[in-house]
Amino acid sequence: MRKHNFGAGPGVLPEAAIKKTQESLFDFNNSGMGVMEISHRSKDFDAVLQKAKSLVKELLHVPDTHEVLFLQGGASTQFAMVPMNFLKKKAAYIDQGAWSNKAIKEAKLFGEVEVIASSKDKNYSYQPKGYTIPADCDYLHICSNETIHGTQVKNFPASSIPVICDMSSDIFSRPVDVSKFDLIYAGAQKNMGPSGVTLAIIKKDIVGKSERVMPTMLNYKTHLENDSLYNTPPVIAILVCMHVLEWLKSIGGVEAMQKINQQKFDMFYNEVDSNPLFTGTAAAEDRSPMNACFLLKDASMDEAFLAKAKEAGIVGIKGHRSVGGFRASMYNALPVESVKVLVQVMKDFAKANG
Ligand SMILES: *Cc1c(COP(=O)(O)O)cnc(C)c1O
Repeated sequence: MRKHNFGAGPGVLPEAAIKKTQESLFDFNNSGMGVMEISHRSKDFDAVLQKAKSLVKELLHVPDTHEVLFLQGGASTQFAMVPMNFLKKKAAYIDQGAWSNKAIKEAKLFGEVEVIASSKDKNYSYQPKGYTIPADCDYLHICSNETIHGTQVKNFPASSIPVICDMSSDIFSRPVDVSKFDLIYAGAQKNMGPSGVTLAIIKKDIVGKSERVMPTMLNYKTHLENDSLYNTPPVIAILVCMHVLEWLKSIGGVEAMQKINQQKFDMFYNEVDSNPLFTGTAAAEDRSPMNACFLLKDASMDEAFLAKAKEAGIVGIKGHRSVGGFRASMYNALPVESVKVLVQVMKDFAKANG
């Protein structure tokens, strides 16, 4: 029996994708070799890479102006690679929580950072809005979904400067207009595949303009010119992504996925808002369908609730230490059924303790 996995990352993956990967481990495409044992320059792997790339383009309607790259080092390496490649003098950042802070820290290594808006005053429980984007900055950095605090940007700001977005925890969960971004990046391990591969969707004409001396591997130009094959890519991680994206396509793509995520979101938050014992921590209008942070009003019952959840096969709902309480991550592959189970545990808990 698989658990109801509400873990924040690495997160649950579609069963179909895991099973298909399993088959490839021992004998890939009848080659007599497992996928971990074949050359990354073989025809068999090139087919995987091209398929994964074309699925990203198809599912997100990526325009011809942009290219899809598979990188390594996680979103955390992008925090440094972005300013290394694009920060000439000054960049604008929005302080939305734990992840933006890490991005800001790296950017400061390369130039001036102007934090143009922040929700720190309320422990990042809402998304900053209505800020002005300075025209004299090289780019605006924004995070689409605050994984730790459970908030999401619902409307991206109109911007006259390039927009760079960390979509690690909500990529492929809803449609996005890729043309509005010069760079989108995401660690794969929340909605796309296993850790070890990092997706970048980059506007081609912004690449290669920096005069900064930088390591070959940290220059987007290297990966753009070599079709993500400058060095050995994370072969198996890309294969899993391909299977996950095939699954996503089979259920109707990002548009259908958004509807399912909305269903899970409604089911969960209807319970939080009507259950007398619980309360949500994020501002209602900014609540994320991917990560839902919630508390027991009486924290002394936390352990008892966790025990009940565990009995029902639920894992991964303990909250991040900076928020406390609980966090239910409801990534794409989390079945609607798992949310039903969690909601039932909350109802039963209220009945027993109300
Ligand atoms: C998980 C996460 C990261 C960190 O990703 P790594 O791949 O582990 O470096 C960065 N940003 C956001 C929004 C995340 O959710």
